[in-house]
Amino acid sequence: MIIDAHCDALMKMYRNRRLDFQTPSVELDVNYPLMKTGGIKIQFLAIYLPEEIRTPGIEHVLEYVDILYQRILSNPEICLIQSRSDLNGVMNSSRKGVILTLEGVEGLQANLGHLRILHRLGLRSVGLTWNFANWSADGIMEARGGGLTARGRMLIKESNHLNLMLDVSHLSVKGFWDLMEYPDLSVFASHSNAKSVCEHPRNLTDDQIKQLINQQGMIGLTFVPWFVHKSDPVSISDLLRHLDHVCALGGEDYVGFGSDFDGIDRYITGLEDAGMYTNLANELCKRYSLSQVHKFLSRNWNRFLERSLPVS
Ligand SMILES: [Zn+2]
Repeated sequence: MIIDAHCDALMKMYRNRRLDFQTPSVELDVNYPLMKTGGIKIQFLAIYLPEEIRTPGIEHVLEYVDILYQRILSNPEICLIQSRSDLNGVMNSSRKGVILTLEGVEGLQANLGHLRILHRLGLRSVGLTWNFANWSADGIMEARGGGLTARGRMLIKESNHLNLMLDVSHLSVKGFWDLMEYPDLSVFASHSNAKSVCEHPRNLTDDQIKQLINQQGMIGLTFVPWFVHKSDPVSISDLLRHLDHVCALGGEDYVGFGSDFDGIDRYITGLEDAGMYTNLANELCKRYSLSQVHKFLSRNWNRFLERSLPVS
């Protein structure tokens, strides 16, 4: 059983209105048939407005929400997880679960009312930025490396009030440490690896990893090949070096996976779509105990979600 903390299937479905989540196709890395093949129980689905949208607005965000309801949740076997009771319901049934997340708050246009409405529609996690700066904070690729803005801090306060999880993947280093000043937040990195294993700005330093562990957050290791290893091709073994490293920092109970499927066009060999999660599970079983494998694939995320989601 697998919980995966990041994919961009909604973006592909936004770009291509004909893509069907429910039937087999080669165009989506994650869809319902592949979730079944790969044993994926819960998939986080990100609202990420691509750069071709010149002036991102709430209307674009709402289109993503509509795609979720019309084209994914139209399947009665897929449940939108909004609470701990939804989570337990999915875990104790044959159904699949999805969690709606926001990657970059551009579309909210600094309007906290929009955040509250999205929360009512089922949004449960917010990542302030993608790679660049917006009204709330700087992203990791923004050269000036700024942290949270005043309006960003207001957003954090409101997110905290709404019990939203805060995703630090893509956030600037300064923004990361600004966020850590709020002790009550449920913080996690949905799709980032360890910088000391693979030097890339999108990866986390050891201090950041230790901080997330200290705050009982989570690190979702990602399959983006150039965040895993500088060579080509990249193997599952290369990915597991990041897992070993996070565990060596004390993160055995705070690490899982966030594939970034449908957000990438190059792949780790043997991890070309969600159906191939079984290859990762097999490799894990060769190196770790069964109880550790369960932790990495689902139990750690499950525990984090149990603690972070509202009761009902
Ligand atoms: Zn991303």
